[in-house]
Amino acid sequence: MAALRELELRNKGCVACRLRAGCARVVVADGDPRASLVIVGEGPGSEEDLDGRPFVGPAGQLLDRILEAAGVRREEAYLTNIVKCRAPHHRSPRVDEVQTCTRLWLEPQLARLRPRVILALGNTAAQFLLGTEQGVTRIRGQWFRSRHVDAEGGTYEALLMPMLHPAYLLRNPARALGGPKSLTWRDIREAAAVLRGEKEPAAVRGLPEAVPGGLFGPGEA
Ligand code: SF4
Repeated sequence: MAALRELELRNKGCVACRLRAGCARVVVADGDPRASLVIVGEGPGSEEDLDGRPFVGPAGQLLDRILEAAGVRREEAYLTNIVKCRAPHHRSPRVDEVQTCTRLWLEPQLARLRPRVILALGNTAAQFLLGTEQGVTRIRGQWFRSRHVDAEGGTYEALLMPMLHPAYLLRNPARALGGPKSLTWRDIREAAAVLRGEKEPAAVRGLPEAVPGGLFGPGEA
């Protein structure tokens, strides 16, 4: 845990890409560093930029309610993002920003955390963590085997489920059966049951059909 805290402290001083010049602060992570559940979003928004913690704005509050619906408290998870600095004008982070930030920070975070379950919220997180170009609406709710390097240079496998980002749910609030909200409630209940050991995933897939490294692979910068 000390190694993770030391990494987080160094992360707060990062100026390695252009995003740092346009934001108030580096938003590193929140939650339990011993958690077996890690939740990864795209990047901080304006509320997170002011507060310094991820998932505290309207989308974060909705995420809290989604977790609660499945009996998971926010404090039981470790929350972070693909990039740690707010991108200007609500744009998505660029490929080189994602590559730089994940190499310096997210991958070392995951190496120290060694979570059992990772929830990848939204396109950017799902596409980076699975190395795919497929959109999250196509692959959400499925379990994938996700392999990572650990802090000792070995590897470990986590179960990874892509889910819709709560910001997407705020833009698409329909509650109809089969709509984004009802699918998300189904997904989080499934994820929580697997996390608690109440069930095994019915099927765990390898990486989805993809170009090597997906949108964020080498040579894409
Ligand atoms: S987005 Fe990541 S790589 Fe870029 S300055 Fe912020 S912490 Fe550093």
